[in-house]
Amino acid sequence: MAKFKILFSVVIFLLSFALQNFAQSLERKDVPEKEKWNLSDLYPDEASWNNDKAGILKKLDEVEKYKGRLSENAETLTTALNLYFDMVKQFYRFSEYAGNLSNQDLRNSNYQSLTQQTSHVGTEISEKTAFLNPEILKMDPSRIKSFFDEDKGLAQYKMFIEDIQRLRSHTLPEAEEKILASFSSVTGAPENVYSIFNDAEFPYAKVKLSDGKEVELTSSAYTKYRSAANRSDREKVFKAFFEKYGMFQNTIGANLGGKMKSDWTYAKDRNYGSSLEAALNANNIPAEVYENLIKQVHNSLPALHRFLDLKKKMLGVDTLHYYDLYTPIVKKVDMKFELSEGQKIILAALKPLGENYLETIQKAFNNRWVDYMPTAGKKSGAYSTGGAYDVHPYILTNWNGDYESVSTLAHELGHTMHSYLSNTNQTFVNSQYPIFVAEIASTLNESFLNDYMVKHSKSDKGKLYMLGSYLELLRTTIFRQTQFAEFELAMHKMAELGEPITGDALSKVYYKLVKEYYGSDEGLCTADPYIAYEWEYIPHFMYNFYVYQYATSLIYSTAFAQKILTEGQPAVDKYFNILKGGSSEYPIDLIKKAGLDPLSAEPFKLTMDRMNSVMDQMEEILSKEKMD
Ligand SMILES: [Zn+2]
Repeated sequence: MAKFKILFSVVIFLLSFALQNFAQSLERKDVPEKEKWNLSDLYPDEASWNNDKAGILKKLDEVEKYKGRLSENAETLTTALNLYFDMVKQFYRFSEYAGNLSNQDLRNSNYQSLTQQTSHVGTEISEKTAFLNPEILKMDPSRIKSFFDEDKGLAQYKMFIEDIQRLRSHTLPEAEEKILASFSSVTGAPENVYSIFNDAEFPYAKVKLSDGKEVELTSSAYTKYRSAANRSDREKVFKAFFEKYGMFQNTIGANLGGKMKSDWTYAKDRNYGSSLEAALNANNIPAEVYENLIKQVHNSLPALHRFLDLKKKMLGVDTLHYYDLYTPIVKKVDMKFELSEGQKIILAALKPLGENYLETIQKAFNNRWVDYMPTAGKKSGAYSTGGAYDVHPYILTNWNGDYESVSTLAHELGHTMHSYLSNTNQTFVNSQYPIFVAEIASTLNESFLNDYMVKHSKSDKGKLYMLGSYLELLRTTIFRQTQFAEFELAMHKMAELGEPITGDALSKVYYKLVKEYYGSDEGLCTADPYIAYEWEYIPHFMYNFYVYQYATSLIYSTAFAQKILTEGQPAVDKYFNILKGGSSEYPIDLIKKAGLDPLSAEPFKLTMDRMNSVMDQMEEILSKEKMD
């Protein structure tokens, strides 16, 4: 409910964007300073970090004195909020230091103790300030309005207060809320059951591959072997993996059904018309945004079907099967980049975003905002974090010189620019942006990088590789995630209509969707019967309307990139409304201000235009190759 739970979820989301683990042979001391981040911008040393802790706790005591007093008068409310956000701001900087330091070397027990202290302070803050939201929620709207008139200092908290107040019609009397809350340990059971089953107790299938190797199909082994170059191997892998899931469809289905029913029970009890409405209300996203996504992606299926046809031709198969989907159409072209070369490419690729954007990125490179090198004990993957409001964002990455290293850096720089621009243009309370817009800036950078690489590729092979992997990204992020989103909505509707949710029923719904998306009845891509069980393997269905944001983010960013390329600077200026906006407005309003209407067909049309133009370029190269 509170906006200030947002930051933590943003950070976790970014962390989930993980690279493989590299052989981390480098020692930190052997990495040149300029390739390591400079955490002394946060605190000169550990001792000053420690001192800050006392300061935060002292402020917390001050905030606590306002318990039960927020509605006294305008001045009291303003003073309390000033104190509270000042303390939270300090705490974010405090936890940023500990978090980044410990991610440098996860084996260091001293660093671990810093993060433990951080989480203790965090818990103390949430406990002692738990009165804040309910007190604001209880206040009469007309009284709040008069407060705003009386004290101009309250103006910066308008969104914060409104965001709490708009939940009034979905909040029950205290005693009833208490009863609902007491059930949360019970309604969380399906997620636990699924995770224990899927991650630990599931009896993985075993297959013997064409080279004689026997493989146990854990989910990571499945991810590895589903793209096997040998066709009968990948067929075997798919069949064994999903037929095993098929044996448990009723258990997994009943469990998932339990989750759908509990979502609906909560939604209904809190006066929502549907589970979808309840879930999206957290960020004030209208249900129509979700429904429009499904509708528009359906209208866009011809582009996916064209891609499937192209894939079939390039793989040289008579009939494309679902198990062929992960096999790359173009052989990977190995590219190697020095760090400085990668940085130069990124700066050149992001030119359409203008001088100021590039200057800040240059600053990030020069002033050591980034920790580049994989070193012993360092956290794997990559993230960007903008919690230190009056310092600057930080990026952790694991550079190994391949193209993914370059694109990961470009991606994280998008988050960094978003944080930087929000932090410098908004007051702290309005600076933290929600997940719904978080992946726009990052994927927009990636899109420009891809463009640049295609244009500057020296060989047709290199071009084809860039174009082909871009198409794979569109398939898995836009079409596949929307297909998941559609399935999720169907499941929730079954619960809302009181229909029995069994594994068998879910498999039927899922299989029908797959065949529709992949044009199976038109002979475009055959989905063998065991694909009906694929839903059982997707953990995201436990997260309650989450995956659709992968699709919307990429669609919006692709559409913004298209607009910027055709309209130039005016489109850039508009686009910056999102990056500079933080949470000063609701995400949908920021996107509209930036020039796109999420309820219209435009973002989808622009994205499909781009997808089709990528396919045009590929076909052109392929026809040329044939003639050579
Ligand atoms: Zn990201």
